[in-house]
Amino acid sequence: MRTLSRMIAAIGAVSLVAACSGNDGTSGGGYPEQNITIVVPFSAGGPTDTVTRMIADPMAKALGGKVVVRNAEGAGGTVGAGDVARAQPDGHTVLMHHIGMSTAPALYKNLDYQPLEDFATVGLVTEVPMTVVARQNFEPATFQDLVSHVKANAGTVTLANAGIGAASHLCGLLFQSAAGVKLQEVPYQGTGPALTDLVGGQVDFMCDQTTNTSGQISAGKVKAYAVTTPDRVKSLPDVPTTTEAGMPQLRVSVWHGLYVPAGTPPEIVQKLSGALQAALADQAVIDQMAKLGTAPVTAADATPEAHRTHLDEQLKTWAKIIADAGVQAS
Ligand code: ASP
Repeated sequence: MRTLSRMIAAIGAVSLVAACSGNDGTSGGGYPEQNITIVVPFSAGGPTDTVTRMIADPMAKALGGKVVVRNAEGAGGTVGAGDVARAQPDGHTVLMHHIGMSTAPALYKNLDYQPLEDFATVGLVTEVPMTVVARQNFEPATFQDLVSHVKANAGTVTLANAGIGAASHLCGLLFQSAAGVKLQEVPYQGTGPALTDLVGGQVDFMCDQTTNTSGQISAGKVKAYAVTTPDRVKSLPDVPTTTEAGMPQLRVSVWHGLYVPAGTPPEIVQKLSGALQAALADQAVIDQMAKLGTAPVTAADATPEAHRTHLDEQLKTWAKIIADAGVQAS
């Protein structure tokens, strides 16, 4: 297996932005008839989990039912996604996933689901910047120092990620490719445990979404070197962009979307999509997201059609990049 660095070199700037299309909301009859479970394919306390818990209650309110969140972590999000692909297509099992939905088919040889065939898209949710962060007492003071330091200490520096194919893994590879270095990577089941170890000083640095690094940065528990978006993140005004810090190739943000198993009645999908749009218009959700460096997508993007178009485009983009690089996760 070759490393993903060639693939990442080919990416250059990766911006994962949603496309737009229309929507029509219809009633889902007696739905929901029981609790709705949103499966998060990463561990609790990570960005995917955080975003899910933010919208769960407002969605429940809009649906007139109860929404519970279940973490089903493992293998870069493929375990939880597989669970939902095989669930009853009745709208009571929903998946929250991110960019990993579009990278996994090319990365994992024995994936037991196909994103476009085995799921119905409900709507996009948000697109989140990433940050390069380190344990608080990591020696480098600036992003430029970080690059020199890891190059000089490539044999000992550790780089955490949330699993193979996770956004943090891709971001870490992009960093290594741009820096021209190969580091020791430490995979976790999600950002939750990875960040815990980073705060505890068990690993040196990582790249992850602002949804979970912002609080640790503000509390002074981790050191922030850069944000991976072209512009600074409003909630982290003192953190330079990777472009300002001299590494414009390290440009990545992470899109999230909701899915149900294929075969779910379209009126139920529309009802879920309407509830998602209601949640994303909720001022408390908008405020919470802003505090964590992100924002809801537009109502037009929180639709099955816009989400499917985006997923289709992303699957093609990543299939080519990954095939060109000739890499596999397992
Ligand atoms: N942020 C993680 C990733 O790197 C996943 C998570 O825990 O939400 O993909």
